[in-house]
Amino acid sequence: MLYQQSVVSDMRTLVSPIPGPGGWAAQATAAYKRRNKQGASGLQAQLASRLTSLTGGKVAAGSVWADDAGEMAMAKLDGHTFRLRGEELTLLRSCKYCGIPSFDSPSIRTVEDLGRALAWEPYCQACEPDDEDWSYSW
Ligand SMILES: [Zn+2]
Repeated sequence: MLYQQSVVSDMRTLVSPIPGPGGWAAQATAAYKRRNKQGASGLQAQLASRLTSLTGGKVAAGSVWADDAGEMAMAKLDGHTFRLRGEELTLLRSCKYCGIPSFDSPSIRTVEDLGRALAWEPYCQACEPDDEDWSYSW
């Protein structure tokens, strides 16, 4: 038991000291946030331009949202929700029956991919019909 206690106190020593303003940790955090901010706005712009080239529709800047980490962007266009993660663009689809939850379509690169994603009518597990006509092959 004595051994366990000393491990816990060692971990506290490792985790607790956070240097004050201007310390290396603050600098690293600031650098990380700067990069994320650029990443987030870059991803927003990329999503808007990919949607415009796929649909010809204009995506308003205000309708594109990106997470703080700059890893994912989402946009609404004519009632459809699109998601961009890295290079992968998907269309969010809801369960055909209950309307929830959302499913990511397979990756969309071309107008044909977009059409396939739009035609896709997924079921959630709870609503999945028993007959075999529902299945879709990708
Ligand atoms: Zn459902």
